[in-house]
This record gives sequence, C-alpha cells and structure tokens, in this order.
Amino acid sequence: MTDIKSRIEDLRDELREHNYRYYVLDAPTISDFEFDHRLKELQILEQQHPEYFDPNSPTQRVGGQVTKNFNTVVHKNRMYSLDNSYSKKDIEDWEVRNQKILGDVPLEYTCELKYDGASINLTYVDGKLDKAVTRGDGFMGDDVTANVKTIRSIPLVLKKPVRNYFEIRGEIVLPLAGFAKMNEERIEAGEDPYRNPRNTASGSLKLQDSAEVASRPLDCLLYQVVADDLEFNTHYETLKFAGEIGFKVPDTIKRCRTTGEIYAFLDHWDKKRQELPYETDGVVIKVNSLALQDELGYTAKSPRWALAYKFKAEQAVTILQEVTYQVGRTGAITPVANLSPVDLAGTIVKRASLHNADQIEKLGLRLNDTVYVEKGGEIIPKIVGVDLTRRSPDAMPIRYITQCPDCGTALVRKDGDAKHYCPNEFGCPTQITGKIQHFISRKAMNIEGLGAETVELLYKNGLIRNFADLYELKEEQIIPLERMAERSANNMIKGIEASKQISFEKVLFALGIRFVGETVAKKLARHYKGIDALMNAAYEELILVDEIGEKIAASLINYFADPGNRLLVERLKMYGLNLSIDESLYADHTDKLKGLVFVVSGVFHLLSRNELKKSIEDNGGKVTGSISKKTTYVIAGDNMGPSKKEKADILGIPIISEQDYMSMVQ
Ligand code: AMP
Ligand code: ZN
Repeated sequence: MTDIKSRIEDLRDELREHNYRYYVLDAPTISDFEFDHRLKELQILEQQHPEYFDPNSPTQRVGGQVTKNFNTVVHKNRMYSLDNSYSKKDIEDWEVRNQKILGDVPLEYTCELKYDGASINLTYVDGKLDKAVTRGDGFMGDDVTANVKTIRSIPLVLKKPVRNYFEIRGEIVLPLAGFAKMNEERIEAGEDPYRNPRNTASGSLKLQDSAEVASRPLDCLLYQVVADDLEFNTHYETLKFAGEIGFKVPDTIKRCRTTGEIYAFLDHWDKKRQELPYETDGVVIKVNSLALQDELGYTAKSPRWALAYKFKAEQAVTILQEVTYQVGRTGAITPVANLSPVDLAGTIVKRASLHNADQIEKLGLRLNDTVYVEKGGEIIPKIVGVDLTRRSPDAMPIRYITQCPDCGTALVRKDGDAKHYCPNEFGCPTQITGKIQHFISRKAMNIEGLGAETVELLYKNGLIRNFADLYELKEEQIIPLERMAERSANNMIKGIEASKQISFEKVLFALGIRFVGETVAKKLARHYKGIDALMNAAYEELILVDEIGEKIAASLINYFADPGNRLLVERLKMYGLNLSIDESLYADHTDKLKGLVFVVSGVFHLLSRNELKKSIEDNGGKVTGSISKKTTYVIAGDNMGPSKKEKADILGIPIISEQDYMSMVQ
C-alpha cells in the first residue's frame, strides 16, 4: 500500500523535474515518448487510488475542469500599471525625479523586457500553487487558477521550501511560433485566424474549458516577487531566487548603473527584439534596491520606482480611400479612415481612427493621400503623417460632415469640445442602442444571454427604446423574432432577471453618464451610498467629493436635470435593481480618520504594510506615497527611510508609531 503511495510520489517528483527541464530550462533530458509513458503510469495509479489525489499532480496539467463563472478575488497587494516613456529624455527626467526624492544616493537599475501578454498574480501557500488571478482593475481580478494550472512552465509545487505565503507576478504570453501554429490549424479548419498573440493569450485565460487552455502553447514569464518584508535587498536577487525555485525568469534582465548602460540595453533590444520567441513592446526599468523602491512608493496609478520605455511602433504606408463616420452612444462622432489593406506588424489593417475634425486638419489629410499608419498601444491603428511628395494634384480635401449620418440631425460642437455631437439623444437610433449596449456590457450590468446584435434586433422590432424597457420584456415577445428560439429567449430573460443583483456602483456605471467611468462610479457610490442622495446633490457639493472635478460634476447635474433620465432611474428602482450600496459590505468601515492624510514608511509588526494602508482607508483616511505639506501624519515602522524622516522634520509633520495609530482607530 505505502509502496504505491511512494511510487506515485516518485513519479510526480520525476515528472515535475522533467516538466521544469523542458518548459523552463528548455533543456529536456528524456524523450517525449518516455515522458508520456511515465505520465500514463501515474494517471493509471491515480485512477486506481483516488485516495492519493493531489490537485498539484503533474497529471492535472491536462485540464478538464470547466469554470462557468470566474470568481472575483481582491488582490492582497494592488497590481499597478506602469508609467510610460517614449524617449531618452523621459528616462532622464524620471532619474532626476528619483534623485530629488531620494537625495544623492547612488542608484542601480534593472532593465527587463516588457513582455506583451496578460498579467497574472500567482500565490503559493506552503510551496504549492494556491491561486492565479488576473490583474483586473488592479484592485481585484478573476480567479483563473484552473486554467493557469495547465501552463507547464508555471510550477505547481516549488522546487525549494519558501515562506508559507508567497506571491509572484508575471506575464502570460503566447510565443510566436505557437501562435502561428494555432492559426494554421484554424485556417485549415475554415475558421478565422486570431488577430494577435496578446489578445489570444488573455482570451485563453477566460476560456471555460481548461482542457482547451491546456492545448494552447501558453508560457509565463515572471517579473516581480511581492512580499511585505523580503529577505532580499534587491529586485534582481528576488528574480534570481524565483528562477531557483522553479519559475521562468528570462535571463535578458540586466543591472545598469548609468544611463548610458540603460540606453545601450534599449538600443540592443530595439533591434534584437525581432529575434525573440515572444512579443515585447518595450523595456521596464526599475530601481533595483527594494528599500529605495519602498521610499519612492507609488502614485495613484503606478510605482514611482519603475518606468516602461516603449519601442517606437512599426509603421506601414498605404492609401486613404475614404473617411466614414461613426456615432457613439453619447452622440460623439468619430471619423474613421478607410485604407487600402496593408500589413502592419503582422496584421492586415483596413481602418484607422482619426479621433476628430481637428486631427484631420492637423494632419492636413486629403482623399487618396499616401499615409503612414502606426500601431500604438491601442487596438485600432492611427494615421501619423502624410507623404506629400506622393500627393496627386486632384487630391480632394475632406469635407467634415455637418449632419448625423444616422438620423440626419445637424451636428453641434460645443466650446472646448474636440468632437462633434449629434444632439438627438433620445431619437438617434445608434445612440439609443449604444446606451443599451453599454448598459448590458460586461463591466456594467453584465447581462448574459443578451448581446449587442440582439439589442439592435429588439430595438428594430420596437420592443425596447431604453434600458429600463429590458425589464418589461416577456419571453413570448422575443421568441417570434428572427434567430430567436425558446431557449435563447429564456436565457435572455434569466440574464436580465439576474442583473437585478448587480451592485449599485455597477448600476451607476451602467447608466452611461458622460465622464462617469467605472472608477468614478465606484467613488460616487461609496460617497453617496444611494442614488437619491446623488441625484439631489448640488454642483458645489459634488466638486467637493474626492476626485470629482468640474467636468464630472457638470455632467451629473446635466444628466439628472433631465426628467427623462430621472424617470429611467425611478423605473430601475421599481424593477428592484440595486440603487444603494449594501451597507453590510462596509460594516467595519468608519469615518474616524476622515480628512487625514497618512504616509506609511518602514517595516511594521502589528499589521503588514498593506493591512495598515487598508485600515487607514477603511477608516476614512487617505494614504499617499510621499510626504508633502498636505500630510497629516507619518506612521513610522522600523528602518524608516532617512530622507522621509528628514522631509517630515523639515515640514514639521508629526511622526507617529504603529501603536499610536492603533489607538487612533480603536
Ligand atoms: P501597462 O499595462 O502598460 O500599464 O503596463 C503594466 C504591465 O506591464 C504590468 O501589469 C505587466 O503585466 C506588464 N509587464 C510586462 N513585462 C513586465 C516587466 N518586466 N516588469 C513589470 N511589468 C511588466
Ligand atoms: Zn443622430
């Protein structure tokens, strides 16, 4: 009996090691045949002895688990974005800013490639993979563990013992060769090829069937170890360590002491990146010392200690054939350039966004012009210039439209607005369906069983004129429509019914008020707690809310001044949607620290740094990264940075201890 158990364990260890050699080191020591043979043996033993089941066994790599809904997980440590830079001058400015904060300390940097895929946060408990969560909005992401387990280069069990809780971040990528092969197979099967590796990689993480994920040649490149008090002094050492315990950390990382060395790295990879097995769109430069990283801290969006340098995008030359116009859900008009199809970095481009009339004017575009097209970070490429030497004498200037292409209403352009608008808000078909499509979208009401095309269908058939009408729909009205059947109608009604559970902040976002995006909706929901208070808030009151500026405030006032909009809100209320926050979620929140601004520095004992920050926020306080006149208190732990202490002293800001803080909130 124990013989079998130890045979199973031996096989698991052995297969783990071979996986590591093959997928991480790229240096296998046995043939695929032998590997498969041993895997088969293990599978059979595990089937015969379910009592020895282990979720982290190498047999689990083949997937099979189906996830219908990905659970949302709150990140223990926020996943930030990176600040972008496009020139060496930007890098110099960044260095100067760093030195200004840190004083005259010598700085060492690391340069890494910026892998272009989907970011993932992996947590390990007792040396075993516990969770894999997508970045999401940075505060919370989706639990995609079942899918990520199938990625062979991610260790399910670490090679060496480490602290009981361990968090590491990386980028899930689809290497180019594997991507090309997937596309070949798709074309053979008569399917459309995937557009690019990055989107396919991130799409793969959200597939319901993990067996399908297992069939895709995904890889994971690691770039950051996250822990409160690491036993290492530098970022570089943490990554070396990550490599030792089984992760794939590209050895392209380099330490640099001078800007010259950084530039050399950039220049080298700007050319050599064509030869890499995966896509990269730049380089990430990081301050190597963890203590100095800590001192530099974070802005609202990104670490101050890191900077992404973007390689210059690839360009293509083509002909501008025609300009067409799209109407958005808010009535904003976007001109679109229709181009002669051209290959740009591996994708065929037929259209480019022109943003607005000014943009066309600035470029001096004419029809039939030869234009340069570039792919920036956006999905839709843009026109960056015109080749005037190739302009034909009869090239026609572009006449911007004066009427809505959809409803014919005369367009307006308000002072200060770059865009033209169709003012026919409640009568322009595209605006009507656009608003409903926004309402049902994933980040808003996330209504299953109802898609953008169906919204158009329902609208054309006169069944809905606004999003509130959705809640009056009956199955019998839907079934007779083309492409509809009992099942799809039933799913739609169920999806609409289920959306009544969606949280207030999402409902608020779903209303589609101009300038009220996800983050703003969240802020407003937390502040006003319910729609009535928000609806009745005066302009002067709105602008006092944290991060609500004049533009947003004016838009809210404008929105709720409209009786039609108020009526929609009243109807949503009547149908039972959440129009106030669920107080129980905030039961342990207080206002004790309202108006106070804290800076946290050093190592703490009672709470971890992040728990401390969360506690401040939960009690109504604000945490910022650096000390300024606005700071109320600095909470100092062990080894607080010397420059922070000096700054606090100069500005006369009280430095308090962790215990002092605890007594403030108790
Ligand atoms: P952005 O999404 O443009 O703000 O860039 C931030 C993202 O870059 C992170 O969330 C990572 O997923 C990704 N990234 C890729 N390579 C690296 C790297 N070497 N270091 C840090 N972040 C990286
Ligand atoms: Zn219109």
